[in-house]
Amino acid sequence: MRKIKEPGFLVLLIVLAVGIAIGVYVSKNQSSKPMILSAEAAGGQVKSATGVAPDRYVYYPGTEALDKNEIRVTACGTGMPAARRGQAAACWLIETGNGDKFIFDIGTGSMVNIAAMMIPYQYLDKVFLSHLHTDHMGDIDALWAGGWTSGRPNALKVWGPSGQTPEMGTKYSMENFLKFANWDKVTREYKITPIPGQIEVTEFDYKSVNQVVYDENGVVIRSWPAIHTGDGPVSFSLEYGGMKIVYSGDTVPNKWFVENATNADLVIHEAMMTPNQYMKLYNQPAQLAWRTCCEFHTSPQSFGKIMSTVEPRHAVAYHFFNEEDTRYGIYEGIRETYDGPLSMATDMMVWNVTPEKITERMAVSPDDAWSVPGTAKQPPPDKGRTNPISKEIEAGRWVPGFQAQDKMLDQFGKENKIESQDWRPKMYEELKKEQ
Ligand SMILES: [Zn+2]
Ligand SMILES: [Zn+2]
Repeated sequence: MRKIKEPGFLVLLIVLAVGIAIGVYVSKNQSSKPMILSAEAAGGQVKSATGVAPDRYVYYPGTEALDKNEIRVTACGTGMPAARRGQAAACWLIETGNGDKFIFDIGTGSMVNIAAMMIPYQYLDKVFLSHLHTDHMGDIDALWAGGWTSGRPNALKVWGPSGQTPEMGTKYSMENFLKFANWDKVTREYKITPIPGQIEVTEFDYKSVNQVVYDENGVVIRSWPAIHTGDGPVSFSLEYGGMKIVYSGDTVPNKWFVENATNADLVIHEAMMTPNQYMKLYNQPAQLAWRTCCEFHTSPQSFGKIMSTVEPRHAVAYHFFNEEDTRYGIYEGIRETYDGPLSMATDMMVWNVTPEKITERMAVSPDDAWSVPGTAKQPPPDKGRTNPISKEIEAGRWVPGFQAQDKMLDQFGKENKIESQDWRPKMYEELKKEQ
């Protein structure tokens, strides 16, 4: 019996040894690929409870409290003005160890990614706009109205730059956004509650260099001018706990950025696709392709030059469609001029920044996120407002349709002690008489 068993055991050992050898070879080869920087390159491998985690470790939203001396940066939009499911337009969520949350740009489509972080809307009330291209502010409507219907009790606060004329500034943009959304605003003010529909705008001078635009609870946010497609765009820095995060917005290489981003911890800067990629994949004529890349935006080579000059602890490139067809051309361009730590950003990439280390991970988030309750609740609907539905239209409510829900609503009213139930039967009675 023994003689029969031993060869089998040896074969098993040989199979195992070969398997391990192949595994080591494959993982070595994988980690040497330049594709996207790993947590290892970002400052040491991340350890999970069961050992050393794979390079692309995950972040589960809502499961990790930040240390006091920690900042979490989430890429909620890294793409282009053209909408795609895989990448929203520019948006960065920055959370600081004191519990504060800041949204830097809120480009088209980005709100679904912000929502997937499952942060109560109460805390998603501070938005900083780098400039007024829609790929940097186009989802303000989704935060404004979606937060309003999901329990945000407070007004939205928006910080943004002035322009060459008042009509080119953030105040004008937001005031006229509220006009664009006037029907929405008036009807929600009546049905829900008015305060969350307000937008408080702080417009600051786009020309001021390294000016403080926000200073509360140990968080200081500064701005300086960016050079893009017109006067007005700015870049931002956020300082907290002795650390500094810098966000370029859209800009060509400029002297203010180099001055003010030097020695920052995490530096996020745009890096565009190559002119050839714009022609091949974005249907642009050659005359536009090079301008888009390299005249009013920053080319990969220029991005690299900026980073090798400001020397951040970790660099982040964004504002390109990140896929097999584009990634390598951009990466190789950057590597011509920069060899430091780098992330090629895509949506839901997350960086944790502490004085000791910076890690890069991917968020694993629900597609079907609900709003999460905060500490404060909206008040019940205002009573004294004018009903935006006229008597003539109200009179068209069909009584049997409403009677069908009476039993269910009476029960709900009893359970929740709803005072406002008084208006409903009164309207019914009037309609019953007429119908
Ligand atoms: Zn822009
Ligand atoms: Zn842009």
